[in-house]
Amino acid sequence: MDSTGYISEIFSSFQGEGPYMGERHIFVRFLGCSLGCGYCDTPYAMAEAGPARIEEAGIGFKRLENPLPVRTVMEAVISQEVFPGFNSKLAITGGEPLEQPEFLRALLGELGGRFKTLLETNGILPDALLRVKDMVDIISMDFKLPSVTDKGEFWEAHREFALAARGRELIAKAVVSPGTPIKEVEMAANILAKAAPDALFVIQPITEKSATPSPEMLFEFYSCARRILKNVRVIPQVHKIMGVR
Ligand code: SF4
Repeated sequence: MDSTGYISEIFSSFQGEGPYMGERHIFVRFLGCSLGCGYCDTPYAMAEAGPARIEEAGIGFKRLENPLPVRTVMEAVISQEVFPGFNSKLAITGGEPLEQPEFLRALLGELGGRFKTLLETNGILPDALLRVKDMVDIISMDFKLPSVTDKGEFWEAHREFALAARGRELIAKAVVSPGTPIKEVEMAANILAKAAPDALFVIQPITEKSATPSPEMLFEFYSCARRILKNVRVIPQVHKIMGVR
């Protein structure tokens, strides 16, 4: 039987986060995430119902009822290529893609390595990562800081996840707010230093204008992390500035 999965949207746009920002990526946003972070910038992708929004290059968008067969999703992904190489990468995002690991595996299998694949995930599902790790090139995991998510601590899950990601390029992102204590940044950096010392640690100031950490805080966070790790950057979200999805 054909595998089916829940998709929020498929479109092509500029990558707005992390070291690959500015590249054109195909985004497959999975529908559904059980975490419910307070700062989530894609709350529409947390619901478990509703149609998928699929971009049709040069035409607009169409809506397809969920769940979608894997071949439909594969065809929608390939149709985002205006010409071969137009998009630099395929970004699998959410919602939380690793809440549907078997469907993700089926989709990447159908695509057969056609695109360099970047998986964006909340970084708390190491067993699900192991189901798809061999099919992705870059893993971008979150460090969910208690001061920002308001959901408690995920340190142990993040440690196991970073260990599970070994052998792949790893980007670890921590969204920080004015209420973030430096000890949380230190904790994330220490976990990463032991589990994946070559990973890039991205400190991402929360995007809401009223809640952005001060420059002094960002310098402090950077210094703290840089004492522990060799690859640290402070990078804000830029797609919001550009007004693109
Ligand atoms: S893990 Fe990501 S998708 Fe899920 S609620 Fe948090 S920010 Fe939103």
